[in-house]
Amino acid sequence: MEDCLFCKIADGRIPGKIVYEDKDVMAFEDIHPTAPHHILFIPKRHIASMADITPEDGYLLGKLFAAAAQVARERGLAAEEQGYRFVTNVGPHAGQSVFHLHFHLLGGRPFAWPPG
Ligand code: 5GP
Ligand code: ZN
Repeated sequence: MEDCLFCKIADGRIPGKIVYEDKDVMAFEDIHPTAPHHILFIPKRHIASMADITPEDGYLLGKLFAAAAQVARERGLAAEEQGYRFVTNVGPHAGQSVFHLHFHLLGGRPFAWPPG
């Protein structure tokens, strides 16, 4: 999509601190981290939000989750005494501000549940 911020990061028009990349998915550091580790995982193909996912996107989602689990392991977040959160926001009540599907990988500190 011409005007989408995360499409621009995905195709290199805007720089990002890339953490992981393959032909389908990408991960990069969030520009305003809210935890010691705050990484965004996106499909390279434009999908506006979780609300637009179809069962045919299952393989893509599997790759996103597996990539996030790999990065979490590499950063020590999967250690027994640690842990992490992997979340996506949909719409105004959840605070979605970028309309290209992304999951936040958050780690390095405890997180409240339920979220505020
Ligand atoms: P949302 O609020 O839609 O769930 O998450 C959007 C996230 O994108 C926010 O955490 C925000 O800090 C991050 N973000 C916004 N603009 C940029 C940018 O230009 N580069 C990067 N790396 N992250 C961004
Ligand atoms: Zn996009």
